[in-house]
Amino acid sequence: MPLLLALCAAASLGSVLGSAVGPSPAWADEVAPPQEVVAGHVLRPLPLTGRHVVVDPGHQLGNARFPAEAARLVEAGGFRKACNTSGTATDAGYAEATFTWEVSRRLAERLRRAGATVTLTRDGDSPDRWGPCVDERGTTGNAEGADLKVSVHGDGSYAAGAHGFHVIAGDEASLRVAAVVRGALEDAGFARATYVAGGDGLDLRTDLATLNLSQMPAVLVELGNMRDAGDAAVMTSPAGQERFASALASGVRRWLR
Ligand SMILES: [Zn+2]
Repeated sequence: MPLLLALCAAASLGSVLGSAVGPSPAWADEVAPPQEVVAGHVLRPLPLTGRHVVVDPGHQLGNARFPAEAARLVEAGGFRKACNTSGTATDAGYAEATFTWEVSRRLAERLRRAGATVTLTRDGDSPDRWGPCVDERGTTGNAEGADLKVSVHGDGSYAAGAHGFHVIAGDEASLRVAAVVRGALEDAGFARATYVAGGDGLDLRTDLATLNLSQMPAVLVELGNMRDAGDAAVMTSPAGQERFASALASGVRRWLR
């Protein structure tokens, strides 16, 4: 691997020079990225080393039990809207919050294994908790200069036969990310939404605080229609949740590569 050989050569040169003229230069440690090590052999730098991804698992499970807190108006990007909503559910009562948590924690794990720093906007799925509000979810990662935000949702449409995923962006720059994520979901076998205008699986919206307040490229994925029996079967199964997480991780890697 030429890159690895070059790094090793540079490190050797640095230590030779260091022994001749003084202490080893500090950069020798700083330039070498963390690397994947298997059975003692360094294979390659991890693909997302140095990258910071915010994963937003949407609504907290307990939001419906805290109506006053959820109704509080917060900054949403030039206007104000409610702190949060309770999200949707399957006809059998499997909550969107639980679906998005299960996909998000799997996605975070995959991204961390690939070397990324990951910030989750909530750290569990509990009927006894609410929030965070959309303004907090929108601003998470701004101060740290995060590279990308992925907000995970499931939709709830009662339109006959409505099924499939769509990816929402708040501006043209993020729409390019949305197209990459759409490609990764399609490559994993997921179908574009049948019920979203345009039929291309993409949507541009300026009413979502999570996207409006993000100072990095940000997309909100509606991974399926929880009110559709076929989508619900996939969205509530651990195998389906793993497929969604794998596809999203692939989309993130494609964009950040
Ligand atoms: Zn939602």
